[in-house]
Amino acid sequence: MKMLHASCLCGAVKLRLPDSFDYMGNCHCGECRKFSGSDYASVGGLDGDKVEVMQGGDAIARFQKSEETRLAFCRHCGSSLFSQKLSSGKINLRLGILDDVPSQQPGFHIFVGSKAPWHRIGDDCPQFETRPSV
Ligand SMILES: [Zn+2]
Ligand SMILES: [Zn+2]
Repeated sequence: MKMLHASCLCGAVKLRLPDSFDYMGNCHCGECRKFSGSDYASVGGLDGDKVEVMQGGDAIARFQKSEETRLAFCRHCGSSLFSQKLSSGKINLRLGILDDVPSQQPGFHIFVGSKAPWHRIGDDCPQFETRPSV
């Protein structure tokens, strides 16, 4: 299995994970926008136990966004790292922290109903007002 490396801006936090995400997509919700400081967040989902902290475990700060979701960031440089779902242990890794090129690409847009008004989506991936209905 090809492995991918990821790190924060200052380099304190280094992560390693398999090049195999359950999904990849772009989230346009207002909370991802705040957390990332960007128009939207590109994330890849995978089981949390597949993400290895190679360095800087003590530099990872966590913000409890809701009962179910915790956001992880570097306490030194502030880089958004991932969100973690507490019930499932699933992680949504912020793709911007990857140092290697993953095999997959984001394949959908969620929470398009609350996207940044100035942002124009430039691909033809499926768009969902909120979450896809399952
Ligand atoms: Zn950092
Ligand atoms: Zn979001």
